[in-house]
Amino acid sequence: MDATAKFELFAGYMNLEPAEEHSLAQPAQRLERAALPSSAYQRAPCGNSPAELQRMVAERRSSSRLTASEVKKNSLGITYAAMPGGKRIALLKTLLTSACERNCFYCPFRAGRDFRRATFRPDEMAHAFMQLYQSQTAEGFFLSSGIAGGGIRTQDHLIDTAEILRRKHAYTGYLHLKIMPGAERAQVERMMQLADRVSINLEAPNAVRLAKLAPRKQFLEELLRPLRWVEAIRRSQPYHLGWRGKWPSSVTQLVVGAAGESDLEIMSVSAELYKQLHLSRVYYSAFTPVIDTPLENHPAENPWREFRLYQSSFLLRDYGFDLEELPFTRAGNLPLEVDPKIAWAQQNLTETPVEINRADRETLLRVPGIGPQGVAEILATRRNTTFRNLRDLQKVGVLANRAAPFILLDGRRPAQQLSLW
Ligand code: SF4
Repeated sequence: MDATAKFELFAGYMNLEPAEEHSLAQPAQRLERAALPSSAYQRAPCGNSPAELQRMVAERRSSSRLTASEVKKNSLGITYAAMPGGKRIALLKTLLTSACERNCFYCPFRAGRDFRRATFRPDEMAHAFMQLYQSQTAEGFFLSSGIAGGGIRTQDHLIDTAEILRRKHAYTGYLHLKIMPGAERAQVERMMQLADRVSINLEAPNAVRLAKLAPRKQFLEELLRPLRWVEAIRRSQPYHLGWRGKWPSSVTQLVVGAAGESDLEIMSVSAELYKQLHLSRVYYSAFTPVIDTPLENHPAENPWREFRLYQSSFLLRDYGFDLEELPFTRAGNLPLEVDPKIAWAQQNLTETPVEINRADRETLLRVPGIGPQGVAEILATRRNTTFRNLRDLQKVGVLANRAAPFILLDGRRPAQQLSLW
């Protein structure tokens, strides 16, 4: 099998790794799927699950609006992704091998599943990527792998690929490398000298939940410990040892909705990961059943849940919220029907609105419709002028209607909400 055929073989599953996605998923576009009864997730006569069929249809629909070049890129596993800093590039997301010896219940690559597998040698992968890079088909690289011959051996192959890219091919572009469960600390450190970003997926918020998803993965020893090493290395080693003089960012991902976990469990571990280990982002992947896996009949998770988790996660990471301030229900879940920031504001700001012309940065960040950029604009603008109405706020990029119920403008509640503009 040539390299293109291998990329194409892996490509259909690489959307399971959000990796560098920047904006929130759009649940409205996926609610059709969420509305299906659970029985609809059983196997279709053609052998695919309805979830897989829907994905194919959606891909085909969106493909019909793509140029020939974009269709080609998609078929190889190349998607447009946001880099740290926001720039969007064509990112090749692929695997060294889809032959995995582990048996995670949700995973299409699990051992024993009957489908065609493929493996790259490190030099073959490096060469194939460079061809895509030099033809400007791909601008960056996300490299993961199934585990074959143990985590240490697999990690060595990933490192070898990265070394060949950086040394032999003098590749200086974006590189995101996966840490393999079972990797050693020295391997993690070497990867951090080669990559712009490293990651390992926790998959679940704790060991009890992980056992329901991936019985051969060890939560603390194999998954959390490497993330701790990454932070320890960033803190203790001089930054000039990192790739191009700085240490890489780190991210992780959790599968949502297949292990009975609550949102409180997910947000608890997310809060710790942001606070203690300084992760750039925790990704959430709403569970979708894969045919011929132990979870093939488990219902797909509602995409609104994933969306609310992202919103809450950003409140922890960027808006100064504590875990205890998130609007969990008694069962420890986030309400699906309301934005968590609005839910908090309805409880805390309705009676004590925020005076936009005097509030400090931290308080302004609590107002729905005002993000970090909006706060910066407000602080800069009010040095010279007073905000008196919603249009003044709208001009500095604030979602004024959303903020209106929770603010004062020059001592008064906004007289009326803006009509559509
Ligand atoms: S180790 Fe990774 S590739 Fe292998 S079965 Fe588990 S999730 Fe899939």
